[in-house]
Amino acid sequence: MVSTLPVSRGRCGLCAGQALESLPLPRSTVGGALAALPGLGLVRCRACGQEQVDPRPSDQALSAFYQGQDYTAHEPVDDAAARRRAAGQLAVITRAGGVLSGARVLDVGCGGGQLLAAARAAGAQVCGVDVAMHAQAACAAQGLECVASLEALGERSFDGIVMSHVLEHVPDVLAYLAQLRARLAPGGWLCLEVPNRGSLRARLSPRWVTSLGADERHRAFPIHLWYFTQDTLTRALTASGFAVALSTTSGFGVDALAPRWLAARVGLGLRPQPSARQPSARGAGGGEGDAGGGEGDAGLAAAGQGRATTARQRARGALKRRYFDALLGENLLVVARSR
Ligand SMILES: [Zn+2]
Repeated sequence: MVSTLPVSRGRCGLCAGQALESLPLPRSTVGGALAALPGLGLVRCRACGQEQVDPRPSDQALSAFYQGQDYTAHEPVDDAAARRRAAGQLAVITRAGGVLSGARVLDVGCGGGQLLAAARAAGAQVCGVDVAMHAQAACAAQGLECVASLEALGERSFDGIVMSHVLEHVPDVLAYLAQLRARLAPGGWLCLEVPNRGSLRARLSPRWVTSLGADERHRAFPIHLWYFTQDTLTRALTASGFAVALSTTSGFGVDALAPRWLAARVGLGLRPQPSARQPSARGAGGGEGDAGGGEGDAGLAAAGQGRATTARQRARGALKRRYFDALLGENLLVVARSR
């Protein structure tokens, strides 16, 4: 089934630049037979700086992989982590001026429906897309609408779309973003979360992490076909008819590199205390390229809402927000408006 050879675009998938510099293949890979395909490559575009898999696995090889048993990254994971991520994303959307109450919100790759449930609690009319049967069942159990594909939505349009840890898997980024934009009402917002190649952890990795066999800059090669920075993600969005309203990051990442006792001591544990006010759950989307704790930190640091907070907690929240807004976190979290 995975007999099809890798395919090469031969030019940058974002800017069509033809000056592509070959990079060493990451030593650590994800995807079993897919990663073992001969002839895969990793390149950096000299014009726009985007790093991308080229030659990449063919569409047939990718779809065989995602439909197979090997791929479990989008199984619903830790529900509490999923809830934190959802709360963080919704807080960032609100911070960027997106309105949830009364809005029609679509979550592409909705997993267990945690973001949908949180958005519904905030007054949105919600709908999810997820190809996985278990995701559809999890949504149905909560009374959340979930369909298997964008096509299954027919002509429906939305005021806001969330897509978390999907874009880096998509062979044609610009075509996919155009497809999402076509579903947005004029001025509608898109909230994207993808791994951040410019994270502090990625920047530190060449010296002491790569030597241990991991590659923090090109995680989940080759199923992650794209390694975005804020700059290249902005370029992709602009080229697709969006204007970026807010860029931040989530997930400290560096806590995973520190000994647990030290992380706890200096407050790098970064797991916000559960709050009774937190809306319900989100799940999938975790997994392969998505490491780094505290997924919802950006929003919670931004919000700190309504809870009795000590001066120390407020100071820590402000510090976290500065860290995330300096784009040092593990995941880029960008809100853009349809132009
Ligand atoms: Zn380029």
